[in-house]
Amino acid sequence: MNRITKDLNGNLLVPDQPTIPYITGDGVGKEITPSMMEIVDTAVRKVYGPKRQIKWKEVLAGENAFKQTGSWLPNETLEKFQYYMVGIKGPLTTPIGEGIRSLNVVLRQTLDLYVCLRPIRWHLGIATPIVAPEKVNMTVFRENTEDIYAGIEWEAGSPEAKKFCKFLQEEMGVKNIRFPETSSFGVKPISREGTERLVRAACQYAIDNHLPSVTLVHKGNIMKYTEGGFRRWGYELAEREFGEAIASKRLVVKDCIADAFLQNTLLCPEDYSVIATPNLNGDYISDQLAAMVGGIGIAPGANINYATGHAIFEATHGTAPALVGKNVANPCSLILSAVMMLQYMGWDEAASLIVRSLERCFEDSRATFDLARFMPRGVSRSTIEFTSDVIERINS
Ligand code: NAD
Repeated sequence: MNRITKDLNGNLLVPDQPTIPYITGDGVGKEITPSMMEIVDTAVRKVYGPKRQIKWKEVLAGENAFKQTGSWLPNETLEKFQYYMVGIKGPLTTPIGEGIRSLNVVLRQTLDLYVCLRPIRWHLGIATPIVAPEKVNMTVFRENTEDIYAGIEWEAGSPEAKKFCKFLQEEMGVKNIRFPETSSFGVKPISREGTERLVRAACQYAIDNHLPSVTLVHKGNIMKYTEGGFRRWGYELAEREFGEAIASKRLVVKDCIADAFLQNTLLCPEDYSVIATPNLNGDYISDQLAAMVGGIGIAPGANINYATGHAIFEATHGTAPALVGKNVANPCSLILSAVMMLQYMGWDEAASLIVRSLERCFEDSRATFDLARFMPRGVSRSTIEFTSDVIERINS
C-alpha cells in the first residue's frame, strides 16, 4: 500500500514509499517543478537512505491537460487527489472564456480544502523592504470556501442584477443602493460552520506547534453579521474547544480589525503568530506579509481539509509568462511548499535539511535574479544552477 490514509483517530498514516500526485503547472511550472522534485528526492535520500522515497505520479491540469484530453481539469486528476490524499501543484493558467473561473478554485471546492495555509517567515540572507524582518513569523489560516470569493455575483445591467436589485428594494426594504441601474452585485456568505472549522484548525495548529497566540482578523466593525459573526463564532469556538489551553495561558486568542492589523504587521509584527481570517482579508494579508519577507517568489502555500486530511501544496505565484523558457524562475515557493508537505507527512528531518540548504545558498548570496538583485553581493543564478547549488549543500 503506497497511499496516504487516515486512521480512526484522525491521524495521518504515511507509508515509507507514498505515491504523491503532482501537477507540473503551466508557464514556469515546467521549470520549477522538476527543480522541486530533484531537491526533495535528494533530501529524502540523504536523510532516510533507501528506506523512504516519494513515488511521484504526474496528473494533468491546465494547458497540458487541455492539449492532451480537451479538458482543463480532467476528472481523473480530481480522483487521484481524492484517492492519494496529499499532492502538490505548480501554477496554472486561468483559462479565459472557458466557463471555469479558476482551476485552483475548482480543485479547492471539489476537495473542500477549507484552509489556505500560508506560513510567512524570513530566511537569513534575503533582502527585504523592512528593517527587522526576523520579527516576522506568522502563519495565516485564510478561509478558502466562503466570503465574497464564493463567486455569487451578477454584472451590472444583467437580468439577474436587475432582479436581485428589485428583490432588495421591494422585498427587503433596502433604500441605500446609490446607483441601482448601474450596480453590479456580489453576495458575501460567512457561516458559523465555515468559521468554526477554520478557527479550530488555527487553534490546534498553534497548540501543536507551541505558538503563543491566534489572532482573528476581521472587519466586524463595518460588516456586523458576516465579519462580525466570524469574530464572535471564532471566540465562542476557541472558548468551547480550547478553554483549558486559554485558561492555562498556553494559548491567547485575540482579534484585530483588518486595516489596523495591516498597519501593525509593519509596526509590531512580533505581536502576531497564527492568524485566522476570512477569504478576502486573507488574500491581501498573505501577499503583504510575503512581500515583507522577500516576495511571492519565495512564499509557500497549501490548501488543506484538516477533517479529511486532503491537502494540495502549491506555489503561491502564477505562471510568470514573461519568464517562461528563460531558465530564470525562482523555484523557492514550490520548494518551500514541498517542505510544508514533508512536514505535513511527518518527514521533518528532510524538510529541515532543505530549509537549511536553501538558507546556506542565500547566506552565500546565491539566488535567482528576483532575489539576487536586492542582495548586496548577490550572484544571479539560473533555475538550473540554483537547483544544483541547493543539492550541493544538501549533500555536503
Ligand atoms: P504571476 O505570479 O505569474 O506574476 C507576478 C509577478 O511575479 C511577475 O512580475 C512575475 O515575473 C513574478 N514572478 C512570479 N513567479 C515568479 C518566480 N517563480 N520567479 C520569479 N518571479 C516570479 O501573476 P500574474 O502575472 O498575475 O498571472 C499570470 C498567470 O498566472 C495568470 O493566468 C493567472 O491566472 C495565473 N495565476 C495562477 C496562480 C496559481 O496557479 N496558484 C496564482 C496566481 C496567478
